[in-house]
Amino acid sequence: MKRSKLFLALICILSTLPLVFCACGECEHSWDKGFVAKAPTTTQKGYTIYTCTDCGEMKSEEIPMLTHVEHTYTKQIWGGDETYHWFKCDFDDCQVTTNKTEHTFVDKFGGGMICQVCRMDKKGS
Ligand SMILES: [Zn+2]
Ligand SMILES: [Zn+2]
Ligand SMILES: [Zn+2]
Repeated sequence: MKRSKLFLALICILSTLPLVFCACGECEHSWDKGFVAKAPTTTQKGYTIYTCTDCGEMKSEEIPMLTHVEHTYTKQIWGGDETYHWFKCDFDDCQVTTNKTEHTFVDKFGGGMICQVCRMDKKGS
């Protein structure tokens, strides 16, 4: 049930809180359908803005990032563990990898060993 604006105003007068705070705390918002203020991409979230048809308050809601259809590895982001290295998908939140191969360790200048492919130091050397 919606409370009337008069009732809201009365509460605001009785309250010591600022009007704006009081109103947003007391209105049982009825949000409109909203509009997309920023469309999501595969790397950035978007958001929708909703406006309350009663009090005019606005709120935004995140739209999750688009999931990409195809994994690409053009940035050549290396990932690896102690034995293998691989390419990580270009998209930050994607955990898909490709080309998993063993490191090719060579002697590193100044001691230790380094993979000549992904430049990762060999651990424990
Ligand atoms: Zn409202
Ligand atoms: Zn991916
Ligand atoms: Zn490697």
